[in-house]
Amino acid sequence: MIKFDNSYARLPENFYARTKPTPVEAPDLLALNDGLAARLGLDAGWLRSPDGLQMLAGNAVPDGADPIAQAYAGHQFGGFVPQLGDGRAVLLGEVVAPDGARFDIQLKGSGKTPFSRRGDGRAWMGPVLREYLVSEFMNAMAVPTTRALAAVATGETVWRDHGLPGAVLTRVASSHIRVGTFQFFAVRDKVDALAELTDHVISRHYPAANGPLSLLDHVVARQAETIAHWMALGFVHGVMNTDNMAVSGETIDYGPCAFMDAYHPNTVFSSIDAHGRYAWAQQPQIAVWNLAQLATCLIPLMGEQDAAIEAATKSVHVFAPLYQGAWLRRFGEKLGLSDTTDVQALTEELLTLMARQNADFTRVFAGLADGSARDEFIDRDAFDAWAVTWQKHNPDPELLAHANPVRIPRNHRVEEIIASAVAGDLAPFRRLFEAVTHPREKRAEWDDLAVPPRPEEVVRQTFCG
Ligand code: AMP
Ligand code: MG
Ligand code: MG
Repeated sequence: MIKFDNSYARLPENFYARTKPTPVEAPDLLALNDGLAARLGLDAGWLRSPDGLQMLAGNAVPDGADPIAQAYAGHQFGGFVPQLGDGRAVLLGEVVAPDGARFDIQLKGSGKTPFSRRGDGRAWMGPVLREYLVSEFMNAMAVPTTRALAAVATGETVWRDHGLPGAVLTRVASSHIRVGTFQFFAVRDKVDALAELTDHVISRHYPAANGPLSLLDHVVARQAETIAHWMALGFVHGVMNTDNMAVSGETIDYGPCAFMDAYHPNTVFSSIDAHGRYAWAQQPQIAVWNLAQLATCLIPLMGEQDAAIEAATKSVHVFAPLYQGAWLRRFGEKLGLSDTTDVQALTEELLTLMARQNADFTRVFAGLADGSARDEFIDRDAFDAWAVTWQKHNPDPELLAHANPVRIPRNHRVEEIIASAVAGDLAPFRRLFEAVTHPREKRAEWDDLAVPPRPEEVVRQTFCG
């Protein structure tokens, strides 16, 4: 059994629609995250039991849950949509972990809601397993992120271009409140609702904040850290719409996300990102753009308008120095340097060499520790010249090993495990999960998973699913 609390469902009724998940035909547990269950204080044995499975599939609403689909708006690729909302997800409720931290338990792919528009409310197994793997890898690398508690096959067919096996993901987040949640009320001039949402977010995520401006300061700071983490892992989120930016700072919505293999700053994977709005190097600027939308929503709560606009603008502009600081720390660690004085120049020089020679982002940084980084370059002299300067800074091997994963969930491997899972074999998924949730551990049995794709294996496009 799970003890739910439902603080979001106690907010006014225009914050959500009360919605039950739609039952599925033949639930089958694909994965259960024991580590996360323990962290939440949940009984993994119960979750695996027939009753637990019924809950994770959306076939039974447990006692104490008060399921809702949350309302939100959002800018999608820069265009404003006044109503989006959970179109294929239901928040079952919140649990309070043994340490007092509160987490949302959400079923994603659990059927239609009043916000589904033309969508079917479902997800197929591919994106569910991708999110499961990638979000748990991010967590293993200490990146703020939503997490994956379970994946359940539905036994039903989901229609995309063709029929695919359906699945439901149990997503765990410190909340699912987005920039777009604020926009939902701001565009409707619901100032009271905005005030109530602001109070809720402050008490839930930023108890040290003393009002809307201070809340904005906190969100800006948290996002600066998160985006710097992404950059340091070569992570391309893919859909940084304002409805996909959590005010908690957690990475959310692993749709068409992917990690770069060969380094190039303009890397884009998402099939729908035709103009590279959300390319790797664009992510910090897009974060600022999104935070400016949050600022705009909060201005009506900040007193006299001209002063409010000035203060909110200043707050958003603080992203740049905070991000710069976080970036220096992250890439400093990646170079094994805690003194960041020369990190900017050293990193830029290395990245320039990597871009020119299509060097593999993960392998170069992981190879700094044991000298194998030079093997990733065609022009080894250029790398050696860089390495001489770098070595003079006395890189710390422990920092290097901690900051640089030897394995990431590479796209071609993720596609491979999805194909196997669809064919009924979960062993490759389980193996990749173990390997990417121990991303710093060198183990011979996982060596193949650290290898970049051969030319014919490179995945160039990803899809929302
Ligand atoms: P996303 O691009 O994943 O951030 O989703 C944007 C919006 O589309 C959100 O309101 C989702 O709930 C909704 N959506 C995405 N896929 C589906 C689907 N299969 N059925 C219903 N709504 C969906
Ligand atoms: Mg989304
Ligand atoms: Mg999505």
